[in-house]
Amino acid sequence: MAQLMLKDLVIKYGKVTVLNKLNLTIKDGELVTLLGPSGCGKTTTLRSVSGFLPVHGGDIFLNGKRITDIAPEKRGIGLVFQNYALWPHMTVFKNLAFGLELRKIPAEEIKKRVARVLASVKMEEYADRFPRQLSGGQQQRIALARAIVLEPDILLLDEPLSNLDALLREQMRFEIAAIHQRLGITTMYVTHDQTEAMVISDRIVVMRNGIMMQEGPPEEIYMRPRNKFVAGFMGTTCFIEGAVVKADGGRSVIRTEEGLELQGVGTDLKVGEKAFAAIRPEYITLDSRVRQSSGSSEINRFKAKVDRSNFTGEFFDYQLKLGKHFIRAKEYEAKALFELGKDIEIKIDEDRLPIVHDSDFEAATV
Ligand code: ADP
Ligand code: MG
Repeated sequence: MAQLMLKDLVIKYGKVTVLNKLNLTIKDGELVTLLGPSGCGKTTTLRSVSGFLPVHGGDIFLNGKRITDIAPEKRGIGLVFQNYALWPHMTVFKNLAFGLELRKIPAEEIKKRVARVLASVKMEEYADRFPRQLSGGQQQRIALARAIVLEPDILLLDEPLSNLDALLREQMRFEIAAIHQRLGITTMYVTHDQTEAMVISDRIVVMRNGIMMQEGPPEEIYMRPRNKFVAGFMGTTCFIEGAVVKADGGRSVIRTEEGLELQGVGTDLKVGEKAFAAIRPEYITLDSRVRQSSGSSEINRFKAKVDRSNFTGEFFDYQLKLGKHFIRAKEYEAKALFELGKDIEIKIDEDRLPIVHDSDFEAATV
């Protein structure tokens, strides 16, 4: 059982406030990711939880017990950083055993625990290697194993995959998710990579300038972003600004200056206020397929001009001009190649078009 709670946490560097009353609870066994651009305060949050950074306001609770002033080594927290920081002169076995030896665990027990944890990160064959004899991905797995073997109540991972190349990073995402599912350690994970956050998290906390902008399950953050900042951080998003002309239930319509009407999904919008349609390239249907798929519905059907086209290997990446706005669209059908300058019909899926507030719309309070 391990539950972590941050209450009105304030952290300053000198006179600069980096975290301003951050509130966050991580439930037992949950993996929560802090997601946000570089400098938004993710590492700062993690270091304050680990105890390596003094707190200027608020409190940290572990299982309901206040640990704000407790020394780092007494918190029962495991840490893994971006640079794996394995001890170069020790074998893999020794890297894992060292912390257990310091705790005076009997040698037999150490052997068993190290073997078990190495198996859980699929590295049992590598116990006798030195870190320099391992690839980046293997080293990162050992860094994770070294934290896990101490059986921490809480695991803190700070951009653990950012030093790996793209392919390995993708594999390791699944592995971290799988390891978390097997072991169920309560985990706070930090990344600036939205796909990584989507894949591994039970819940995502989007941060900007030390403030929580939104928190929720990955699908909710992606499909129901509250504001422009969150929508723009999740995937490729093109924004079209307009005034809200209809807002009932979850349905909203905005009208642009030039009179385009876009219908989508929005929450707590008011008629008359400024808002943005957050258009995702994957939810646009192009040309002849519009007529096949959408029947007679005129909602979000427009004429657009093909402005640019790139073939990525996986799909065609189009830039389209819709009125005076540029939007992007993905087309997976290799035959569907449109000439530059051609006018085509498009349809934006109204169920997958978030209508969002401006970025400075009040941050989520939890
Ligand atoms: P992130 O991990 O999200 O990239 P950090 O938590 O490292 O961001 O940093 C948050 C802010 O605090 C940044 O503006 C950064 O420049 C500042 N900062 C971080 N560490 C220090 C420090 N030791 N002294 C002064 N400012 C710092
Ligand atoms: Mg950081």
